[in-house]
Amino acid sequence: MRAPTAPMKPSTGHCIFCDLMRGAAEVSICHEDATAIAFMDIQPVNPGHVLVVPREHYETLQDIPSAVGAHLYQVAVRLIPIIQKASGAQDMNIVVNSGQAAGQNVMHYHIHLIPRRDGDGFDVPLPFPGSSMPNRQQLDAMAARIGSMLRDPLASDGRKT
Ligand code: 5GP
Ligand code: ZN
Repeated sequence: MRAPTAPMKPSTGHCIFCDLMRGAAEVSICHEDATAIAFMDIQPVNPGHVLVVPREHYETLQDIPSAVGAHLYQVAVRLIPIIQKASGAQDMNIVVNSGQAAGQNVMHYHIHLIPRRDGDGFDVPLPFPGSSMPNRQQLDAMAARIGSMLRDPLASDGRKT
């Protein structure tokens, strides 16, 4: 266990990850830099379950500035083969629960890197057994809608740059 070194922006409310980065409780850090920190999940799916976290407090994916998001992704990509080697697990789920309806419990954005083993009992059930299959017309309509919103700057999602 060691305390992080770089300063961070305070969050508005109580946040366990901000507390950890302030050194308020024990945390097992495997990577840190000026923008990101990666530490072991306290309740891992499997040994080697790591959380990649921005130092600044952003809640969900749409709050993350592009440069920070890109950096977190780069950190994750660097860590993945190392975690696989260290944990002995060849397979991996990369999970982001963005927002409460999506199952986010800690409202400080983070990327889960979850080493997977056959028969470990964890599952991200896709395709979702509770969903019905839309027809091609419905899929095309949604694809066209998303594509046109992507091309129209006025329909921007408000992402910070
Ligand atoms: P979420 O449901 O928000 O995507 O995931 C939150 C994750 O944070 C969970 O996997 C949980 O085990 C982990 N977590 C919650 N509190 C702590 C803590 O105090 N320390 C660490 N290292 N991980 C935590
Ligand atoms: Zn926070």
